[in-house]
Amino acid sequence: MLAVTSAFTSGAALVAPTAHASRASVQMGIIDGVKNLLGKKQDFLEAEPYWDQSTIPVNTYKNKAPFTGKIVSTKRIVGPEATGETCDIVIGHEGKMPYWEGQSYGVIPPGTNPKNGKPNSVRLYSIASSRYGDDMTGTTTTLCVRRATYWCPELKADDPAKKGVCSNYLCDSKPGDDVKLTGPSGKVMLIPEKDPNVDLIMVATGTGIAPYRSFIRRLFVEKTPFGEAYTKGTGQAWLFLGVANSDALLYDDEWQEVLKKYPDNFRLDYALSREQKNKDGGKMYIQDKVAEYSDEIFSKMDNGAHMYFCGLKGMMPGITEMLEGVCKDKGLVWEDKLSEWKKAGQWHVEVY
Ligand code: FAD
Repeated sequence: MLAVTSAFTSGAALVAPTAHASRASVQMGIIDGVKNLLGKKQDFLEAEPYWDQSTIPVNTYKNKAPFTGKIVSTKRIVGPEATGETCDIVIGHEGKMPYWEGQSYGVIPPGTNPKNGKPNSVRLYSIASSRYGDDMTGTTTTLCVRRATYWCPELKADDPAKKGVCSNYLCDSKPGDDVKLTGPSGKVMLIPEKDPNVDLIMVATGTGIAPYRSFIRRLFVEKTPFGEAYTKGTGQAWLFLGVANSDALLYDDEWQEVLKKYPDNFRLDYALSREQKNKDGGKMYIQDKVAEYSDEIFSKMDNGAHMYFCGLKGMMPGITEMLEGVCKDKGLVWEDKLSEWKKAGQWHVEVY
């Protein structure tokens, strides 16, 4: 019943942004909200036309005046043998903090920084849900957060005094807890929705999966105008995910569902560094898996594909070194290729 109320409100709020909205238009909004809730369509948070990015919300809430959201759920989403802990965290924003797929939220953890006595500073997290949220009401946001721990070589154990402030706060949060949010921010990882046939090559390590989950929900799970166009078209969304082992895979059940439904439009490859071997017999890192398909990837890029990278900073040197090698084999100059892709807006990197 709670969900009905929120979809209702968010649908209505969109047609009544000013005090002048007529009663009829408010009623239409309510009807739209209910239609959306019934699973027929997700269209109450679309731009007009839907690919127009000129109205993307940016920094609606700033550090000095953050929005206070509420934790809806916090779930560990990795198996027992995973390296570290990763949680899926759903936060309620009452429809007041809309965002687009590919953007991030800031989280201000409570407390002060002992190093300078000032309030803790903001940390950014890529949004892992589509603009409609996982419950499709347009009132929640999902984050995918890895708990940062500090392994002390002297103690030969985790040192809790040096654990990451914000990730631990989020992974320990409970439903109903308040959470201070800033943003949404970022325009680097948006989807070029104008072309429903665009190939999207999405490369992630660990929590770098977050923006792609938002893309994939928009493309294949929800009935959005872009999803409808994309699944009728020839575009392919190709996800590469690198993690340590199969217990550390993120949202695998969701990808398997999409693969079953859209085998032509969706493609999935995993690099499991501690379980698989690369062609030289070493650990299978993300760049090794991408390298297996380098010819196909280059030809897709030459045909206008967009390539995305998200996850730990450390992934990029391996990736660029690999692509440089591929260029050399093809008689191409890597720097020229990269600047060509960047100039055409086909190259998207968000690493941390
Ligand atoms: P901090 O408290 O900032 O500490 C940082 C690191 O230092 C930790 O590993 C901590 O253990 C270690 N440390 C602390 N004290 C010491 C000490 N005395 N000596 C040595 N080491 C110490 N993260 C995600 O999990 N998911 C995302 O989707 C995500 N998206 C991001 C998107 C962007 C655009 C950016 C920029 C970052 C993103 N991050 C994401 C990273 C995130 O913002 C935080 O940096 C991360 O969660 C760690 O923050 P923290 O407050 O937990 O750690």
